[in-house]
Amino acid sequence: MTTVRSRALAGRSGVGSLYSNLMHDDARVYPSRIREVEAKRTTDFAAELNPAQLRAATHADGPLLIIAGAGTGKTRTLVYRVAHLLERGIRPERILLLTFTRRSAQEMLGRAERLVGSMSRAVHGGTFHATAHRLLRRFGQAAGLPADFTIMDQSDAEDLMQLSRAKLGFSEKKKRFPKKATLHQVYSRHVNTEIPVPAILSEDYPQFREYEEDFSRIYADYTVRKSERNLVDYDDLLLFWAMLVESESALADRIASLYDHILVDEYQDTNQLQSRILRGMCRAHRNITVVGDDAQSIYSFRGATIRNILDFPAQFEGAAVVPLEENYRSTQPILDVTNTVISRAEERYTKNLFTKRTGGEKPWLVTAHDEQAQTRFVVDRILELHEEGVPLHEMAVLFRAGYMSADLEIELTARSIPFEKWGGIKFLEAAHVKDVLAFLRILENPRDEVSWYRLLMLMPGIGEATARGAIDSMALAGWASDAFGRYEPPPRARAAHAELVLLLDALRTNPTDAEGAVTMEIARVRRLYDDILRERYDRVEPRLSDLDQLQTIAGGYPSRAAFLSALALEPPQATQDFGFGAGSEDDVLILSTAHSAKGREWDAVFVIWAVDGWFPSARSLGSEEQIEEERRLMYVAMTRPRNHLFVTYPLNVYDTRRGADYSMDQLSRFIDRGVREGMQRVVVDRPESAPPDPAAGPLPVVDLRAMLKGRFGA
Ligand code: ATP
Ligand code: MG
Repeated sequence: MTTVRSRALAGRSGVGSLYSNLMHDDARVYPSRIREVEAKRTTDFAAELNPAQLRAATHADGPLLIIAGAGTGKTRTLVYRVAHLLERGIRPERILLLTFTRRSAQEMLGRAERLVGSMSRAVHGGTFHATAHRLLRRFGQAAGLPADFTIMDQSDAEDLMQLSRAKLGFSEKKKRFPKKATLHQVYSRHVNTEIPVPAILSEDYPQFREYEEDFSRIYADYTVRKSERNLVDYDDLLLFWAMLVESESALADRIASLYDHILVDEYQDTNQLQSRILRGMCRAHRNITVVGDDAQSIYSFRGATIRNILDFPAQFEGAAVVPLEENYRSTQPILDVTNTVISRAEERYTKNLFTKRTGGEKPWLVTAHDEQAQTRFVVDRILELHEEGVPLHEMAVLFRAGYMSADLEIELTARSIPFEKWGGIKFLEAAHVKDVLAFLRILENPRDEVSWYRLLMLMPGIGEATARGAIDSMALAGWASDAFGRYEPPPRARAAHAELVLLLDALRTNPTDAEGAVTMEIARVRRLYDDILRERYDRVEPRLSDLDQLQTIAGGYPSRAAFLSALALEPPQATQDFGFGAGSEDDVLILSTAHSAKGREWDAVFVIWAVDGWFPSARSLGSEEQIEEERRLMYVAMTRPRNHLFVTYPLNVYDTRRGADYSMDQLSRFIDRGVREGMQRVVVDRPESAPPDPAAGPLPVVDLRAMLKGRFGA
């Protein structure tokens, strides 16, 4: 479940240096590497870019849009553009590079460093959210935002929404009332897209239309609650930034004048709020470069809209538009297949791609008898490629959703093949990690109701009523630091209350600025918490080792506040994200969701579970638009390899979620006949049964036991 590999984490130091700079306004967000990189004396741009790329990289001032398909060198061009700006004499700290993940910002600036040397280290690079956070810490106070706000991650925000929901009495409603996750989803969609709540309900949640007014009441309460408790959610980060730079004020001018050039990668996945931010930030100079591919837009569920990229020329009048059509990543056979996949899209603006990389093997379409056969094929093939000299980190296995790699993970572990997983459930979303963080968070922000609730509910003898009673009495006492100590618990909760008071007192008297203070705090919390963990959870040992890791990570932070913000804002997805072995001496295979693979490339890529209902996901079959987005996601996955592409699907799926033991599965609708024509078909079967005819497509398999069970309604 945990995505952080303890193997790679153990016994290394300097873990937090990556994050600590996040808190210093004037330091750049992402130091790429400590080692000096020798830059080439001058970069011959014309030799390393094609004419269209060169035109974009050396574009003078003013708005610029690069709209082009996968692997055409959009990201590369952006790196060269940063290098070119630096060569032109633009000061690095006056350049802002916005990317979708911290990792890609780091990598891009690392590459720029190889072109123009270490000055590129001072370029500000990172995600929209991290940049918003940095700006709000620095300028928020002038706009009425307290400096020490706490950032809530999505699940915290949902929990707070639940408190509002309960307070307004909706828990007891007889009719079905939306859950906290739905309430939060609608809210977030509204903030990010500016679509009015009633319209979102009519469109996506008609069953909840009757509660329109209740939604508003809950959101009003949620908003007040956040500000009273000094909490900021992810959406607020963007919203406040947008509102700040849009206002007619000296402050807005000041913020907009921080940068002379702004560059954005993966622009197709930005939302309306982000586009507003960019317009605000560029109001004085209009030096904005965006790159993207409408055919790879995969985040509409988060409010992203391809209108941003399509409307860019209208929003930034006089924008230069540079299309790119040559693909440098994949071989012709791979490109033929991916071109066909995306040619079925309903709407599409970028053109078909060509490459000079002729030759190479056709992509494989692998029919496996069942999941185990699929796993076995993938692992065997990985080992063969490795034998042939392909390093593990040059191979990736991609899937639609995090849970789909479970069987593969077991097999890789059994065969001692090291791997790292991106996407899916993250280390910091794990319940036990959140439990421990809750203690630190109430120390940092005594008004953090969500964390209070979480930790009170952990304590033996404290139930819902007591937890609420305690929180209410603390609120009445103005959240004074001794308010919890003064609260009179019912008899059943007295022991737990006394124990907590003791712990909190001990933590509060600890010096917080000494080196390793946060690590010590966690150690102190664990003297109470580890026993609770043993009581409440299964798989105790790996959980305890997660907490060991958390302690190690905390060691690198200058303060508790820095630690908490960095974790909430950019939860590490994998070991790499802690700043270990960037470029990695560890040779590990990558497992990733298709979403997290965006923008990346590998020598060999396996797309597993190409089954209808899995990829496309069954949850997305409801509307044409969602199916179109799934198609683009498949396109993203299949355009990652340079030389080898394998698409695999099991015929028989053990699937209790569908209420059947076994079901017969259909190949993903995106691998249609025309797509298959460009692929080589392979069937892997259980060793004992006869190989089915590969030309016949999915073979009917009769499962007598399942049929029998079905007869009796089992
Ligand atoms: P995606 O849409 O997947 O994000 P992209 O358009 O950003 O792809 P890049 O990742 O920048 O494409 O480039 C794909 C590959 O092609 C990289 O390995 C890059 O170094 C290489 N490449 C791009 N342009 C050139 C070029 N002019 N000469 C040599 N290699 C190139
Ligand atoms: Mg890219």
